[in-house]
Amino acid sequence: MMRWVALAFMVGAELARPAATEIARPAATAIAQGGASSAPAIDWKTVEEETMRHFQAIVRFDTTAKERPAAEYIKKVLDDNGIPAQMYSLEPDRPSVVARLKGNGRKRPLLIMGHTDTVTVDLSKWKFGPFSATRDGGYVYGRGVIDDKDNATAALMTMLVLKRNSVALDRDVIYLAESGEEGNARVGIGYLVAQHFPEIDAEYCIAEGGDVIRENGAVKYAEVETVEKIPYGIELVAHGISGHGSIPLKSNAIVHLGAAVGRIGAWRPDIKLNETTATYFRKLATIAPPEQAKYYRDVLSPDPKVARAADDWLFENEPRHSSMLRTSVSPNIIQGGYRSNVIPSEAKATLDVRMVPDEDRPAFLEQVKKIVNDPAVDAHFATAGAERPAPGAARLDSELFRAVETAVTKIYNTVTLPSMSTGATDMAQVRTKGTQCIGIGSAIDVEDQAKGFGMHSDQERLLESELHRFVRFNWEIVNALARAR
Ligand SMILES: [Zn+2]
Repeated sequence: MMRWVALAFMVGAELARPAATEIARPAATAIAQGGASSAPAIDWKTVEEETMRHFQAIVRFDTTAKERPAAEYIKKVLDDNGIPAQMYSLEPDRPSVVARLKGNGRKRPLLIMGHTDTVTVDLSKWKFGPFSATRDGGYVYGRGVIDDKDNATAALMTMLVLKRNSVALDRDVIYLAESGEEGNARVGIGYLVAQHFPEIDAEYCIAEGGDVIRENGAVKYAEVETVEKIPYGIELVAHGISGHGSIPLKSNAIVHLGAAVGRIGAWRPDIKLNETTATYFRKLATIAPPEQAKYYRDVLSPDPKVARAADDWLFENEPRHSSMLRTSVSPNIIQGGYRSNVIPSEAKATLDVRMVPDEDRPAFLEQVKKIVNDPAVDAHFATAGAERPAPGAARLDSELFRAVETAVTKIYNTVTLPSMSTGATDMAQVRTKGTQCIGIGSAIDVEDQAKGFGMHSDQERLLESELHRFVRFNWEIVNALARAR
């Protein structure tokens, strides 16, 4: 998953502390298999040591194109702990791991997932090796530490803690460490959903896609992803007459395409809010400084002029927020011509279109044609369907959202903003099956992104303390949703 947190604000002095630990009860008295149970007493110090061990081991596998060794490691940890795990692979080197803790069946299962693959690395950019999992100055360095080996590890630790404490469950808890999320969903979640869906079929799902945002070392807010955009490609193809470059032609395909791309680039489609984005901006306005809060309020205005002015400011200063307001269009590839003395008969541009979930696809294409406004330039979708399927959204009034919000309050002591990701995650495939999914992520410093330590950046790092806090956060959510009452 790829995204950039554009927003930072408020100079906070106080460090947000994790809320007080859940009141511990003796584990021995807590459990009656199949019956109601109290929250078990958990020795978090021991959990932290083990978390770091597994996390470092998983980061040390180079999973840029081959997840098998990491998958085998995870399977062994689960098997050794009495949680039988299965591997599913469309391609031999790229298995996903699935394991299940059985509940009493009163509720439908909960799926907790994290992808084991990562984007590639440029070795020359890393101070510490990208697969070294070096611990330095309170951080762990390595490709995937915040995308998405933190989720994969936190979900794994949650399974182990549930099992060791014999926590009685009202629903099955299913663990999934999937391959191929970074551009090859076909081998991972695509394959599982198409061929092995009963193994991961769940009412709710927790995956990557959110962040807890820190600034100056203090937690500012938590974003949890309840919906995401749907990626489509649209191609513009200009046709003209070919000829000798020494005789310019009015029909030159490159000239027509260039003008069309210019018009598309200057176009921002109409603002289209949904439950998530409207809530996001409304809540953001309550915690932002007044000068920024005004823009977040104004984009919600029924007066299109007011909303448009705020959108202009966002586009200039917080482009991610501007994208969240609408279906976005970005011309990202342009192709045409092969010799300087030949006028080509065709030129093509590819637009990266990220649709809001309720966009009318054919109508949107018609709008693109209208903006292009040139009979010599044709517009069509690059593929028959989306690169990711069209997902539904997680409801904000659901048991799932409440559980996540309560866990945010308890562990991070901050406000929860539901968000719409401008990018796409493996939740898209899961959501199409009717599973309600929420994306979460460990806490990151906004300053760190600017320094090149963000997701998919030259380097990646995660605070050790935030890894451990994230395990607690995962635990709280799963405990709330699955423990037998
Ligand atoms: Zn990811």
